Amino acid sequence: MKLSLIVPCYNEEGNVEKFFSEVNRVFEGKVSDYEFVFVNDGSKDKTYQRLKHIYNSFNDKYNIQVLTFSRNFGKEAAIYAGLSKAVGDLVCLIDADLQQRPEVVLEMLEVMASDEDTDCVTAYQESRKENKLISGFKSVFYKLINKISDVDFVNGASDFRLMKRVMVDAILQMTEFHRFSKGLFSYVGFNTKYIPYEVCERESGETKWGFRKLFKYALEGIFAFSTMPLKFATFIGLLSSVCSILYLIVVVIQKLAFGIDVPGYATIVVLLLLIGGLLLFCLGIIGEYLSKMYVQVKNRPVYILKEHLKNGEEVE
Ligand code: UDP
Ligand code: MG
Repeated sequence: MKLSLIVPCYNEEGNVEKFFSEVNRVFEGKVSDYEFVFVNDGSKDKTYQRLKHIYNSFNDKYNIQVLTFSRNFGKEAAIYAGLSKAVGDLVCLIDADLQQRPEVVLEMLEVMASDEDTDCVTAYQESRKENKLISGFKSVFYKLINKISDVDFVNGASDFRLMKRVMVDAILQMTEFHRFSKGLFSYVGFNTKYIPYEVCERESGETKWGFRKLFKYALEGIFAFSTMPLKFATFIGLLSSVCSILYLIVVVIQKLAFGIDVPGYATIVVLLLLIGGLLLFCLGIIGEYLSKMYVQVKNRPVYILKEHLKNGEEVE
């Protein structure tokens, strides 16, 4: 069975060569038929040159594909491109920075082989070795998204996973522009097993996921896999209508029964601001969905390939 390793690379000049040699060292005598699918996601450093060097030096000995994007399209797009071009019966997503060790891929292969009913083996982090604020934020996100969406999200489960071809084909059928792979993996179903793994330190370079990017990514996930924010907007609208009717009733009773005039100006200003704010907030939520639909309707490609190297020939 052929195994494809999909390796998204964005500014990984210090890692790709080490990654390549580590995989070959670890797989030696254990995995015989495998290919590398490196996706150079518009790197601005020397990643392209390093990948080309690997390709030129080793493509007669190893199966190597190098996809180069015309610019940075993001990891999700890189994963999608890799999945589209991989030819393996088994496909594994793995980062280029050696934080996810190739030894774990061997474990995944064993778990997959031990039960033919398993379609996917996913590695999850038992303990997160990261900033407390970020890991707290991630667990709040998982709690929230599991409540408001129909799809199950497992806290700590990464993109680091091995999948059978049937599952890969199912994911490829989802051609949506705003891709949130963690959701797509769950959405397509299939039998998934989880194995713990320890995230290693980055070999070189730094993470591309700062707090702002993570927050944006979390919102992407919520808007891609839940319509709850829209229902929330309806709920706020309903609640503020009911409150204002109750308030009106109280004001009328006060006036008719006790002759009390309600001081008008300040109340009106506060209510106007409050209602105006709520309206804009709800419009914003609708706008989020609308903007996503707008981009989707344009039907633009998820990524643009500049070059595709495969088995001694330039494909595109
Ligand atoms: N990556 C990518 N495109 C991007 C950002 C990241 O292809 O726009 C790749 C990156 O090169 C790495 C993987 O995605 O192989 C994970 O990124 P990173 O290590 O920065 O994330 P972390 O491990 O910190 O979550
Ligand atoms: Mg990393």
